[in-house]
Amino acid sequence: AREALFQSQKMEAIGQLTGGVAHDFNNLLMAVLGSLELVKKRLAYDPKVTPLIDNAMQGARRGALLTQRMLAFARKQELEAGPVDLPSLVRGMSDFLGRTLGPSIEVDARFPARLPPVMTDANQLETALLNLAVNARDAMPEGGAIIIRAAEKTLTEPQGDLQPGEYVQLRVTDTGQGMDVETLGRAAEPFFTTKGVGKGTGLGLAMVHGLAAQSGGALTLESTPGEGTTVTLWLPVATSQMASDEGPEPAQHDGAG
Ligand code: ADP
Repeated sequence: AREALFQSQKMEAIGQLTGGVAHDFNNLLMAVLGSLELVKKRLAYDPKVTPLIDNAMQGARRGALLTQRMLAFARKQELEAGPVDLPSLVRGMSDFLGRTLGPSIEVDARFPARLPPVMTDANQLETALLNLAVNARDAMPEGGAIIIRAAEKTLTEPQGDLQPGEYVQLRVTDTGQGMDVETLGRAAEPFFTTKGVGKGTGLGLAMVHGLAAQSGGALTLESTPGEGTTVTLWLPVATSQMASDEGPEPAQHDGAG
C-alpha cells in the first residue's frame, strides 16, 4: 500500500510539473506562431524565405500540439459537455487538419444525412481528433488516407464500460503500418510510445480514452500489422431535452473534405 501511495504521489508530481512546463511552452509557441504569421503576411512571396517561414510555423504548430496534449492530460480537465454536431465539428477542423497533416495525407470524412448530436466537450473532442489524425499520419510515412465515419448504435445491454443507451460511434481509420498485439494492448497507457524520445509523449490515446470515459462513452482500437488501424470513439447521444436547451448548430452535411 505504501508503494502504491508513493507511486500515486509521484504521478501527481509528474502531472503538475508536466502541466506547468507545458503551459508556459504553449504560450511561448503561440507567440512565436503569431509573429511568424505576421512576418509571412508582410513579406512578398520569396522562394528563398517563404518556405523557411512555413517550416518554422509547422514546427511551432507541432510543438504547440504536443504541449496541448500534455496539458490536457496533466490537467484532467473538467468536461464542459454540451450537444456537439460531429459533421460541423469535423468540417470546422478540415483546414487546420490539412495544414497540420501535410499534402500527402487525404482526409475523407463522411457522415450519415441524419446524425444526432453527441454529449461531450467540443474543444477536447477537437484535440482528440487531432491526436488520432497525427497518429494516423505517423503510421503512414508514405502518405495515405484518413477515413472518418460515424454511425448510430443502440445498446440494449451493458457492453464493457458502456451502459445501455444510444451512442454514436465515431471511427477514424488509417491504412498505415498497424500495431502488433503487444503495442495494441498498451497503446492507450499514459506515457506508452513507440515513437522515440522527443517524438512521442505517449499521451495522445490516453487523452482520447479519458475524454471518452468522462463523456460516458468508450474507446476501442482495432489494428492489423501492415494493414492499418481503426480507432472507435463511442459517444452518448445528447437527449432531445439537452439538445433543445443548448440549441446545437443546425447540421449541414455537404461533406467535410
Ligand atoms: P504517441 O503518439 O505520443 O506515441 P499515443 O498515446 O497517441 O502516443 O500512441 C501510443 C502508441 O500507440 C504510438 O506510439 C504507436 O505505437 C501506437 N499507435 C497509436 N495510434 C496508431 C496508429 N494509428 N497506427 C499505428 N500505431 C499507432
